[in-house]
Amino acid sequence: MAISTFKACVFGNPIAQSKSPIIHKMFAEQFDLPLEYVKREAPASGFVESAEVLFADPEALGANVTMPFKHDAFAWVNSLSSQAERAGAVNTIIRTKNGFIGDNSDGVGLVNDLLNHNIKIAGAKLLMIGAGGAAKGALPALLDASISSVHIYNRSHQKAVDLVNYTKEHSQAYISVYPRQTNQVKALELAEQTTPFDIIINATSLSLSNQLPALPDTIFEGCPAVYDMVYLNQDTVFLEKAKSLSCKTAIDGLGMLVEQAAHSFFLWFGKKPETREVYKYLRAISQSA
Ligand code: NDP
Repeated sequence: MAISTFKACVFGNPIAQSKSPIIHKMFAEQFDLPLEYVKREAPASGFVESAEVLFADPEALGANVTMPFKHDAFAWVNSLSSQAERAGAVNTIIRTKNGFIGDNSDGVGLVNDLLNHNIKIAGAKLLMIGAGGAAKGALPALLDASISSVHIYNRSHQKAVDLVNYTKEHSQAYISVYPRQTNQVKALELAEQTTPFDIIINATSLSLSNQLPALPDTIFEGCPAVYDMVYLNQDTVFLEKAKSLSCKTAIDGLGMLVEQAAHSFFLWFGKKPETREVYKYLRAISQSA
């Protein structure tokens, strides 16, 4: 059957805030592709039904999946890419003749955004703050990009331990937990680091409520690159803190959002969109909001 319009969507709940339709519209225009990409709010326990409705349409080529459905999508697809398997979550579904493939473009998006900002990943010592889905999704691509070591710091110690164990099963990289023992010693252990971190990534949702992780200022001093996965219309408190402590590069997650979308687009169409202008456009509209 000849397809006149490719159809895709992003599933989430809530989803009203999503910028994905704007991003994919701009990507599709670059290649003159007839793509209709919309937001679909699935009921909290209704991901499978919503996916079946979408894919009953033969023009539907794929979907993005955001919170809280990344695990539902992981369970629903017929097969998984290596990124998705190692991330334990699916944010991109690709329809093929042989069924639905689940992939994960979050980590590739983060890596590409770090590289766009000239941050050296290979050989870097990374502190990842947070052990939720975003941290887990990012780790496989960071490890593939030859990061030399990863330290995970998280409010709930057991979740950090679980993430380290899961990641170790899927890679050979050096990865460990902060705090090693209990939450009481965490700040102390970090303050005792003799070699500074090359990259610090905030993968918690704390910036959304203007809160900072409980970390000593010393970890920021001399750190060349600080990243907050959250993006707002102005600097997050985390980035303000890093800048006040003279971190050279402090960036939010808007570029990660654009780059993960670009990788999803590539997975559907085999074409790599130009991301610079899309990023600049989104930054401009968010600053004028
Ligand atoms: P999860 O709910 O899976 O994890 C939340 C993380 O934040 C956990 O590590 C949690 O710690 C921590 N956290 C939450 N509240 C507190 C608190 N009060 N004190 C200390 N730690 C806290 O969310 P995700 O991992 O999926 O997402 C995290 C953030 O990343 C979101 O805000 C999201 O917007 C952003 N994100 C950005 C993307 C982008 O493209 N830029 C892509 C994906 C995510 P604990 O384990 O102790 O609960």
